[in-house]
Amino acid sequence: MPNIVVVGSANTDMVVKSPRIPGPGETVIGGEFLMAAGGKGANQAVAAARLGAQVTFVACLGNDVFGDQALAGYQREGIDTTYIVRDAQAASGVALIVVDAHGENSIAVASGANARLSSTHVERAATRIAQADVLLVQLEVPIEAVRAAIELAHRSDVPVILNPAPAQQMDAGLLKQVTVATPNEHEIKVVVGQQDQNAAIAAMLDAGTQTVLVTLGQQGALWAEETSRTQIPAFQVRAVDTTAAGDAFNGGLACALGRGAAMADAIRYANAVAALSVTRMGAQPSLPTAAEVDAFLAQASTRAAR
Ligand code: ADP
Repeated sequence: MPNIVVVGSANTDMVVKSPRIPGPGETVIGGEFLMAAGGKGANQAVAAARLGAQVTFVACLGNDVFGDQALAGYQREGIDTTYIVRDAQAASGVALIVVDAHGENSIAVASGANARLSSTHVERAATRIAQADVLLVQLEVPIEAVRAAIELAHRSDVPVILNPAPAQQMDAGLLKQVTVATPNEHEIKVVVGQQDQNAAIAAMLDAGTQTVLVTLGQQGALWAEETSRTQIPAFQVRAVDTTAAGDAFNGGLACALGRGAAMADAIRYANAVAALSVTRMGAQPSLPTAAEVDAFLAQASTRAAR
């Protein structure tokens, strides 16, 4: 069972299904409402835990009812919450999400306590990070916290998966310590400040990131290393809600790489986890278990063999 440390954000998602995403000043009468645990860090932690990993989640929650519910939820998933901080000065993070009829979404996040996760908080988990099989980080918490985590992992030769979302420009010093970066098509351009995708991939590899996986939605993922480019196709499913597709992908990838899988197999596994997640509503409620992913992959192989 791989040991994974996730350092990142925790939110409560308020999701409304709507025929279309409202424009500025517009009110659209929507349908179904769903309140569920979300936040990129938490989603990726839960994804990995459901897939059987031993997960430690480092995060900052407010001292409010949303924080209580989130914490109880992680504990139900078997996640180690020793290094989750409660901050009395800030509200727990909240995301307002509208999902349209095609499963496309539009999201506004009030970061709250997430913005108060510090490098000091992360350093408390130094031993845990040093002993991990994989460190998994995103950019929904302050960059200083992310930097502290990456440096701790790098110092102990622990592989680092960076999901640079939401995207921001990053310095080469930090990218050099990243083993696998998993931006989507938009994010990679922002991270290295390059408009062209190929140039952006090259810039990231030049900075010293070992492997770049550009996630391409229903096209799957582009696997890029110094001397190779390989597209790994997505699985064909009926998309209902793509919220947390990227998070499912990252949780799956961390789990597979943490188990020692080869990169091609890890990407296929991550694609399967993400494909299952888009067939269901919500962030954490949509994340599959190891058994569901295994059954899905077995079925996919049978179909391919026909
Ligand atoms: P993000 O949600 O971070 O923008 P993507 O949209 O690239 O990321 O999706 C991440 C991964 O989720 C993809 O690499 C793919 O494996 C899977 N995925 C996303 N959309 C679909 C879809 N419609 N059908 C199947 N798989 C999908």
